[in-house]
Amino acid sequence: MLLFQDFQPIAAIAPTPLAVKSLRALAEGGEVTLWVPADLATDELPCEVYQTTLRELVNTLWQTHRALVFGLATGAVVRLIGPLLQDKMTDPAVLVVDGAGKGVISLCGGHQGGADWLARAIALRLNATPILTGGANALALPGIDVLGEPFGWRKGSGDWTGVSGAIARQQPVQVIQEAGSTLWQDHLPPDHPFVFGWDDPTAAQPNLPKPAARVWISPIQRRFADGAEVPSDCPKVQWHPRVLWVGMGCERGTPRGVIEAAVADTLRRHHLAEGAIAGLASLDLKADEAGLLEFCGDRHLPLLTFSAETLRAVPVPTPSAVVESEVGTPSVAEAAAILAASRTCQRDRQPQTFAPLRVSKQIFRLPDHPGAVTIAVAQAEQEYTGRIGRLWLVGTGPGRLEQITPAAQAAIASADVVIGYSLYMNLVAALLHPGQIVEALPITQERQRAERAIALAQWGLTVAVISSGDCGIYGMAGLVLEQLQAQGWDGQTPAVQVFPGISALQAAASRVGAPLMHDFCAISLSDLLTPWPVIERRLAAAAAADFVTALYNPKSQTRTEQIAIAQRIFLDHRAVDTPVALVRAAYRNEEQITLTTLGQLLDCPIDMLTTVVIGNQSTRFHEGWMITPRGYLGFEKGT
Ligand code: SAH
Repeated sequence: MLLFQDFQPIAAIAPTPLAVKSLRALAEGGEVTLWVPADLATDELPCEVYQTTLRELVNTLWQTHRALVFGLATGAVVRLIGPLLQDKMTDPAVLVVDGAGKGVISLCGGHQGGADWLARAIALRLNATPILTGGANALALPGIDVLGEPFGWRKGSGDWTGVSGAIARQQPVQVIQEAGSTLWQDHLPPDHPFVFGWDDPTAAQPNLPKPAARVWISPIQRRFADGAEVPSDCPKVQWHPRVLWVGMGCERGTPRGVIEAAVADTLRRHHLAEGAIAGLASLDLKADEAGLLEFCGDRHLPLLTFSAETLRAVPVPTPSAVVESEVGTPSVAEAAAILAASRTCQRDRQPQTFAPLRVSKQIFRLPDHPGAVTIAVAQAEQEYTGRIGRLWLVGTGPGRLEQITPAAQAAIASADVVIGYSLYMNLVAALLHPGQIVEALPITQERQRAERAIALAQWGLTVAVISSGDCGIYGMAGLVLEQLQAQGWDGQTPAVQVFPGISALQAAASRVGAPLMHDFCAISLSDLLTPWPVIERRLAAAAAADFVTALYNPKSQTRTEQIAIAQRIFLDHRAVDTPVALVRAAYRNEEQITLTTLGQLLDCPIDMLTTVVIGNQSTRFHEGWMITPRGYLGFEKGT
């Protein structure tokens, strides 16, 4: 399971038998290394043994691990990690699980270390309660210091503690967002403290409350005054969405230092933040230019290159006849910046409109250094996330939370975005957390749901698409994969993972006994996506072959005839007293179970929440239970 992949490596430390008991489930998943003293190691326990003192072990693991999970009293953990704590940007996430395995405390590294996230995921795995003490969490708000992470924004300078404090005190916090996704704004609780935009300076009375803190979301580099010279009116922070594409041309062999200086100087003069750089763009002849590659490699920036032919089609303010005669396009820096910034997340599409230049072509040299650079900067409408998106296709079972696999629960709990039909969203509400983007769409808009999920994943987000039951049985998995296929998906980007769920036929069967025991099949009576003659043929074949048959989508308010036709087809092959179970809303509060026969099933309540299970020739009722004999048993005995 790749759920904890963002935290690898993770160590769990269990110095006592009780701790081993509460933490071993983590080690069994294979993603967490369990450390125990020699006297607690056994053959069947997947663990590593430490021979040193506990303090020495922790000192070592601290340097190499992204997260540490302690099965130890919080007081002891605090004493162990106290001398090691340095900076919340770099310290590992620290979690404590109590001896009874009931609570998972996010002790430190809550936001940036991801400890809150991990505490939720581990609590799900251990069937425990996550204990998160960060202020934003209690207010159902995303942490301000992790706000932009899903979108790949870079954190800029500012007084992060001061702004977090104002949020925790529920004081008004002004947000000025000049770039980047505003999706996060759509999913705030109604009483959030954020005030968006500026006050109208022409209004007689100020409309907005005086802010206690300010958040800038912008490619602009703001220099916050601090200290005595210019007293700052309130704490401020800045996030930088990566919207700037730096177009660059350079002489062959221009050293990295000159490129660095060109970028730094150009951005500084235009008050732009280096954190807002999405990537570099150039002519394809420069794809092997050492200085460019080193610059991009160091900073984990993509280098996009375009052919001269593509570049020459881009209208630019500063074309050059000299450049055109040398490389076949009148512009490299400007045209490449504009093209890179104009790409949508669907990489191959030609841009419809061209992105604006923020900085037109500049020529840059460093005294006493070889080489020269031309540089221009364009601003994209949508930020580059720098992340490979993931699509998790998740089955949420029939209804109740406990019927969802732990893996599926963890997937829902940890996705950036959860997309699904509104009814199912309510059923998984307990798994959702502040800061997640939750998009509930009506049941009719399945294709839109799939398209939306794909678009967000292509952009770099981790998107969980949820379906009731199993997502691969009349669910969203097929729709999403079909659409990916139609778009020429390479099978890897976005990365897809399917999480199975308990399908309605299993849920229904479990409520009435063991009706599916022998060979069975599922047939949907919905002719929205399948022509009715095909459905009739399958019904006839299943009936003739004596399959136990689960009918999905048996009847809606407008589709009432199909179930009657199905009954007639089955009566051609099976007795009128063949047992039939009608299970409505299995594992939900409004669950309703009716045991009837093939002859009488139309007299019973059937709707779109019902699964109809028709027995085979050997299926029997016994004291309110529906049983299909195992069938092979007699045969095995006889052999
Ligand atoms: N992917 C789902 C099926 C979706 S089709 C799954 O694997 O279960 C929708 C149909 O599923 C409904 O019309 C009904 O026939 C059945 N269904 C879904 N949830 C159900 C439940 N809780 N109880 C009974 N039937 C259910």
